[in-house]
Amino acid sequence: MIRIGLTGGIGAGKSTVAQTFIAHGAYHIDADKIAREVVARGTPGLAQLVEAFGEDVLTADGGLDRPALAAKAFVSDDSRKLLNSITHPLIGARTQELTDAAPDDAIVLHDVPLLVEGHMAPFYHLVVVVHADEDIRLRRLVELRGMDAADAEQRIAAQATDEQRHAVADIWLDNSGTPDELADAALAVWERRIVPFRDNVSARRDVEPSIDDTTADPEWTALGARLVNRVWALVGGAAQAVEHCGTSSAAGNPARPIPELTVTVADLVAAEALTEPLAAGGFPPVESDDPHVRPHGSADPGRGARVSVRPAE
Ligand code: ADP
Repeated sequence: MIRIGLTGGIGAGKSTVAQTFIAHGAYHIDADKIAREVVARGTPGLAQLVEAFGEDVLTADGGLDRPALAAKAFVSDDSRKLLNSITHPLIGARTQELTDAAPDDAIVLHDVPLLVEGHMAPFYHLVVVVHADEDIRLRRLVELRGMDAADAEQRIAAQATDEQRHAVADIWLDNSGTPDELADAALAVWERRIVPFRDNVSARRDVEPSIDDTTADPEWTALGARLVNRVWALVGGAAQAVEHCGTSSAAGNPARPIPELTVTVADLVAAEALTEPLAAGGFPPVESDDPHVRPHGSADPGRGARVSVRPAE
């Protein structure tokens, strides 16, 4: 299984990309839908909201009155935190439940408008960002989705910036053309990068990067930082340090950067315990001539990596 995070600012065109991926077999998990489900009428989540914010967050028929909740929850940092402390764990648990139910060979597509705002990027094998300039998004939201212009502007302003999305994007899809052009670009990414990546993860196969990278920011430092965060998410408390210690280039293509990371652990037993989590996360083990290091490569045909897991002493 691999997990793909799909995000983009409001009105960017996530729906087109999600539909393309779903039509080709993605296992879809919709964050907005889950957020509504966990506080639907009759749920324990809604009962918790009533306990925290009072009966008047309910509509006459016992559902959630969103404007009434917003009026109470978005007045201070404390009340916003209280709201999040109720909804976030419920959303997290339901997302995990759906992910666990996906088949072993699934390509899980997690559709998350606020992926960047929620600092979730490291938890995916790949992050796909759909982009359109603000003026285009605004026009589409008003003309096609019938949103009020001031409301749309306010929502755009409250979200992450393009730079913040750039920093976490593994795949950047530009939607300034037609919906068909976007769907074609999404399909190309699906067939050439995402499906082979899933196959390589299943086979625990290390590959040289072989396709053009559509990374938003091809700077090596940004790429290294992205991988450090991703490896931290996979190894968690088992590591003492995860560092980006250099960059080499792909054997067949000197222009392709291969970030080199070092994971420091207590001893070889701890290094071996990380073999499976790293392999499942897209970094399969590779042969080593040094008995004290456990090296890993990359299953992503769009981006190479070398991750050396070493004991501290
Ligand atoms: P998101 O899900 O990212 O918020 P949507 O996919 O709903 O955004 O797109 C916003 C609006 O713009 C929708 O009405 C959609 O039909 C329209 N749209 C998306 N892409 C294009 C495009 N390339 N050209 C014209 N309209 C588009």
